[in-house]
Amino acid sequence: MKRRFPLLHPDAFCESIYHIDTKALSDRGISNLLIDIDNTLVEWNGREVAERLIEWIDGLLEKGFSICVLSNNKHFRVSEFAGSLGLPFVALAGKPRVGPYRKAMRLIGAGKNNTAVIGDQIFTDVFGGNRTGLHTILVSPIGRDGLWWTRQVRKIESRFLAGVRVDDRG
Ligand SMILES: [Mg+2]
Repeated sequence: MKRRFPLLHPDAFCESIYHIDTKALSDRGISNLLIDIDNTLVEWNGREVAERLIEWIDGLLEKGFSICVLSNNKHFRVSEFAGSLGLPFVALAGKPRVGPYRKAMRLIGAGKNNTAVIGDQIFTDVFGGNRTGLHTILVSPIGRDGLWWTRQVRKIESRFLAGVRVDDRG
């Protein structure tokens, strides 16, 4: 079936980051991850880094993944959060622009064919990732959005997603 708006379709959808099949990612040659923060790793503007999140990140690093945090949020917020996880980051990214994805890839020595994007928003994370030619994984947003605008976009996204069929694995 030919899809309309292919750049808005994630390659995979997962309930949360913890549901992503990282073995399947490795099997398809992916060893680099560009990960959104807000509503993907923590609730919007959340500062608490849960033990489970640290273990998940550490597990990925042990398996040989390189990770860069890629966020549209402010520099101090992103640097603090990424710093507490010990990860490189790109802040004020302006997703879905392609430039910041490429910048994040350069930071960790990633290539187009071995990189996946993980995020909770179709019109920023997924759209930008697809434009950059990367494997895109959409996750359900954590918690409630702090921004009215994001809530409005969610409504459009959920209508859109109702017509989307994707793999349920990473
Ligand atoms: Mg987000």
